[in-house]
Amino acid sequence: MRRPAAFIDRDGVLNEERAFVHRPEDFKLVPGAIEALRLLQEAGYRLVVVTNQSGIARGLYREADYLALTAHMRSSLEARGVRLDDVEYCPHLPDAPLARYRVDCDCRKPRPGMLLKAIEALDIEPRASFLVGDRLSDVEAGRAAGVGRCFLVRTGYELSEEAMARADGVYADLLACVRDVLNEWRPAANPGPPDRS
Ligand SMILES: [Mg+2]
Ligand SMILES: [Zn+2]
Repeated sequence: MRRPAAFIDRDGVLNEERAFVHRPEDFKLVPGAIEALRLLQEAGYRLVVVTNQSGIARGLYREADYLALTAHMRSSLEARGVRLDDVEYCPHLPDAPLARYRVDCDCRKPRPGMLLKAIEALDIEPRASFLVGDRLSDVEAGRAAGVGRCFLVRTGYELSEEAMARADGVYADLLACVRDVLNEWRPAANPGPPDRS
């Protein structure tokens, strides 16, 4: 059976937004993030992190630094009972200084490539899934991938009017969003989001 997923942006949603986080000492989880992930895991959601990492294309840090930080993120979450099902990243930028990463790719949000890849690989039901981000590009990527609902949180970038207008809801943080989603519908009992018509 296809399962629902929570697509979660990294910087500004899971961990505190700081410009181009790439060192473990700068990776600070947002308060309530662990509880939010545990609740989703218990409710049967796949946990998928989707993150633009143009700092790689900009030459600010190496892909190896990103991968080391991802290993650190995964192990610190696992130590607290949370297993991420997938972590997708885009290292590209169309006008990147580093030629290797100068790609007009399908994966950099607002494009949906990272989400579509996870949907395929993990047998996810997009309509029953939701996304949490802190920028318009997150919401747009979710829409383009057919994700049921796309939310924003206030723990990252300052939200633009346009972003808030495009989102299905705006929350103080990831935990507030997750609590609301789980109170509305439980995937085990009801595979789809509520009909709001
Ligand atoms: Mg972000
Ligand atoms: Zn890309």
